[in-house]
Amino acid sequence: MINRILIEVKKMVDGSCLEQFNEVEITGVSIDTRTVREGNLFIPIIGEKFNGHEFVETAIKNGAVASFWQEDQPNPPQTIPLIYVKDTLIALQTLSKSYLGSLAVKVVGITGSNGKTTTKDMVQAVLSTKYKVQKTEGNLNNHIGLPLTILRLEKDTEIAVLEMGMSGKGEIELLSTIAEPDAAIITNIGESHLLDLGSREAISDAKLEITRGLNQDGPLIYHGEEPLLNSRVEKMPYRKITFGQSTSCDYYSSSLQQENEGTYFQVNEKEQPAYFIPVLGKHNVNNALAAIAIAEYLNVPSTKIADGLKKLKITGMRTELVKGQNGVSIINDAYNASPTSMKAAIELLQDMKGFRQKIVVLGDMLELGENERSFHYEIGKIIQSDEIDYVFTYGELASHISLGAKETFEEGKVFPYQDKENLINHLKQLVGENDLVLVKGSRGMKLEEVVEGL
Ligand code: ATP
Ligand code: MG
Repeated sequence: MINRILIEVKKMVDGSCLEQFNEVEITGVSIDTRTVREGNLFIPIIGEKFNGHEFVETAIKNGAVASFWQEDQPNPPQTIPLIYVKDTLIALQTLSKSYLGSLAVKVVGITGSNGKTTTKDMVQAVLSTKYKVQKTEGNLNNHIGLPLTILRLEKDTEIAVLEMGMSGKGEIELLSTIAEPDAAIITNIGESHLLDLGSREAISDAKLEITRGLNQDGPLIYHGEEPLLNSRVEKMPYRKITFGQSTSCDYYSSSLQQENEGTYFQVNEKEQPAYFIPVLGKHNVNNALAAIAIAEYLNVPSTKIADGLKKLKITGMRTELVKGQNGVSIINDAYNASPTSMKAAIELLQDMKGFRQKIVVLGDMLELGENERSFHYEIGKIIQSDEIDYVFTYGELASHISLGAKETFEEGKVFPYQDKENLINHLKQLVGENDLVLVKGSRGMKLEEVVEGL
């Protein structure tokens, strides 16, 4: 992690501090007094609810040795080593960019509507069979999390795998110019953020902002089955590598075999190595193909890549198979939902064989904008009544999934709920040994409570 004396930090962020503090040495940074460590530089961020400047003294009590201070904030504490900056958030970003510039690390940037965290975990798993790799922890993928991740990089780290998320236009551009990736991955284009951005075209453009800081040659690795990406990327100068299920992609999968413990597949119809990922769903095979592509680009031998994927550990609640009471199996995909990922999860459930009953429990997909009802209704219509036994929905929007499902399901098979407790009680009566339940909805719906209930 970053280790500097204040006179150096001051230069890096174009700030000022009292000369007497020039030699104070900082190790690592923190923006949170609850997790601040001995020797940290505290960076007070001004948020909607809190102003970090109110906590500078607590941060020092808890171990920080110095702090940034935004010039327009009143009453700076006199006895604490402070670096005065115009804007603490920008200073955090500038500091991270400057620190990154001092390292020899190669950066792999990952964006996309869905699958960023999963792909990041996979890329880390395969690259760390050959290199010293650090990755974004959890989901720290925004204008604050990405700089914090960079400032945690160790001197001898060879590759940083950074997740880049967004809540609107311009954000990926900012992250990409900070991190200046040596390789970029776009997992897919979906409908998340349709509300803010207006169209899938605009979403594609926003994801392609990752190229703004991308190294001249790339590579740009992206989902080759997305026409909006293909058409936009055509004229770009980077080396391009595509992945997907179709044989037109540079990396495509075949002989896909879904087992309870995970998914087996081949790449480009080669029998060796045989790939296995301990997660479910074609969408996860796509994520793995992106990881394989970057690993081959970085000269990791394919047997090592296969080995890395086999041992993968995924950040929780993302298409995770768990066991409930009475022997019921649950696909816990409660982390989040959009139409693309909802379809992928339903297809996965439909493909899984050998169960007594298969049940979906689907919650609202939030932030979809004006056509939100029809997005839900369409999801209801694609659920196949010959593959799935019962449809449960939770929430007002999700009741439109129920409406769509009722077009093909018999009476007494589709249950729209507005109350989670009632839904859980009903579900408990219904499920048992050798049943499979898919649980999925937007983060705000907290469907993990259903998983816990089972
Ligand atoms: P966030 O924007 O919240 O950071 P993310 O892009 O990091 O999300 P993940 O956390 O990896 O995405 O996965 C979230 C959900 O998206 C998964 O549970 C799965 O249902 C779905 N998903 C994952 N990968 C893909 C993909 N390649 N295509 C479509 N859906 C996917
Ligand atoms: Mg994520």
